[in-house]
Amino acid sequence: MNEQERMRNGRAYEKDAFMFEDMDLKEVLTEKFFRYAAIETQSKSGVSGVPSTPGQWTLAKLLMKELEELGMVDIEISEHCVVTAHLPARLPEGHAPVPVVGWMAHLDTVDVAMSPEVHPHIVRNYQGGDICQNAEKQIYISEAEHPELLQHIGEDIIVSDGTSVLGADNKAAIANMMTALEVLKAHPEIPHGEIYYAFGPDEEVGLLGAKAMDYAKFPVDFAYTIDCCALGEVVYETFNAGSVKLEIRGVTAHPMSSKNNLVNPVMVAVDFINLLSRAETPEHTEKKEGYIWVTGIQSDVLNCTVSMNIRDHSKAGYEHKKEILRAALEMTKLKHPKANMSLTFSDTYANIYDAVREDNRKCIDALYQALDELGIAAKTIAMRGGTDGSFISTKGILTPNYFTGAHNFHSRCEFMPMDAVEKSCLTTLKLMELAVRGVE
Ligand SMILES: [Zn+2]
Repeated sequence: MNEQERMRNGRAYEKDAFMFEDMDLKEVLTEKFFRYAAIETQSKSGVSGVPSTPGQWTLAKLLMKELEELGMVDIEISEHCVVTAHLPARLPEGHAPVPVVGWMAHLDTVDVAMSPEVHPHIVRNYQGGDICQNAEKQIYISEAEHPELLQHIGEDIIVSDGTSVLGADNKAAIANMMTALEVLKAHPEIPHGEIYYAFGPDEEVGLLGAKAMDYAKFPVDFAYTIDCCALGEVVYETFNAGSVKLEIRGVTAHPMSSKNNLVNPVMVAVDFINLLSRAETPEHTEKKEGYIWVTGIQSDVLNCTVSMNIRDHSKAGYEHKKEILRAALEMTKLKHPKANMSLTFSDTYANIYDAVREDNRKCIDALYQALDELGIAAKTIAMRGGTDGSFISTKGILTPNYFTGAHNFHSRCEFMPMDAVEKSCLTTLKLMELAVRGVE
């Protein structure tokens, strides 16, 4: 098949290859990633108002400008810094209607007590061994600790300088989506359906962008996020997730008259926590085992607040964990009748899998077909976490997730092997193609 025939058939990306000689996809992805990584967009939890940090506005506004240059229309930004944009369909006359597809990425990077400033650099043609992130501070990514590096011999690999995360989560996805648009712009002969993009803030602190989005501006049949790890990974199973607050009000008294009077809320909290299972914590669970994570205790002599996260892939298991906490509350009340105690639950997101039905699972089938046509081995994983799709799917828009190609999210050892990152972008383009061609 020559290039023209490939275009006519709408098959511009085949097994492992990007077919256009006028564009070096990896270089385009790299250049965009560095531009986005230079903007500080670390989100902060516990801040009232969305977005939680001003840098997210800066990135959002840059993206709006670029979206316009790349041919998108109806580009809008909400009061909560959610950017939405629309690419009208480009189909041969008389073409049957095709599904409307959305993509969403998050603007923020995680705050894991490292520098908010990201200084990435690229290691060309990695030949094995430790990667030096920072010669001055002697920071390395060790091959022994990260043997996954060895799958990327001969590739260019982007890393941070070891004082911060890299922020491939989720800027690799933003670069991916913008690069796909650039391909469509450079090649007007490639047909595509209607496409919507959304970029939201504060995913890392509770999917707040997806929650704040006006879904009238994202009128899609289904959507994708590109927000997890290694080459080929597909996720449409995530946790059900919620946060819980236990509030305890004790009784204060001077030590002269404290016997049988004083109720120390810290000790009440300790009694409550001791009723929880030590086996059902993040450090003792894996795969599809759920947990209750006590994430913080704040106290003075009168008041104590215990913060917890609950996670479970199964909805029943998730609800059962709430029952366990309610039962622990009742036990603790019996022991400390003078303490005033209450529990508040708030659901954060749900398992995408619970939104999958026979009549909407085509977007998942498309994902497997895309990987197959690109010669990428698919690996389905149940994510021990959530994506924006875990919330979007609860709005009736099924939103599975596929790999960015990067590794070690939320760590200074995060790295982006560019062959895998390119394959993620090819997957995006292939999904756009399959929306037109149909899924077999
Ligand atoms: Zn992410």
